[in-house]
Amino acid sequence: MQKIKHFFKSFLFWELFQGLSVTGKYLFAPKITIQYPEEKTPMSPRFRGLHALRRYANGEERCIACKLCEAVCPALAITIDSEERADGSRRTTRYEIDLFKCIYCGFCEEACPVDSIVETHIFEYHFEEHGKQVMTKQMLLEVGDKYEAVIAANKQADAVYR
Ligand code: SF4
Ligand code: SF4
Repeated sequence: MQKIKHFFKSFLFWELFQGLSVTGKYLFAPKITIQYPEEKTPMSPRFRGLHALRRYANGEERCIACKLCEAVCPALAITIDSEERADGSRRTTRYEIDLFKCIYCGFCEEACPVDSIVETHIFEYHFEEHGKQVMTKQMLLEVGDKYEAVIAANKQADAVYR
């Protein structure tokens, strides 16, 4: 009986039509693909992209050179040098992140006590020369200055889950 059933199934292309029915089902279903880069998927406020250093509203940089981010970084991607200012405060003289070493884990952002180093929503960037992947303090501050409004909004949106 089993053999006869198998014969008719093969003879009538049963499996083929079964497969085509799946294709047919998805042919008219709403498409889940998007036309990148014209279309973008929604992004979480916790997205971990390009790094930035933030300032306070008065323009003073937030970073107090505690080096917690450097210590916690599992990829040893952060390098910090610091000095004491005339007013007794401590600030970095060098703050660099090697983006080729970085694994975008977000530990630096989690460790920072003053919300200075953050990972932004920026994920479309590239480097054209070797060495340009090392982001300097100036470059990080510039990203922070440019996207402060978005960074602050994302921090606020995420705050309720912390
Ligand atoms: S995201 Fe992770 S790997 Fe990258 S610099 Fe921060 S701590 Fe290091
Ligand atoms: S970015 Fe934050 S964690 Fe890193 S040295 Fe500055 S204050 Fe400390």
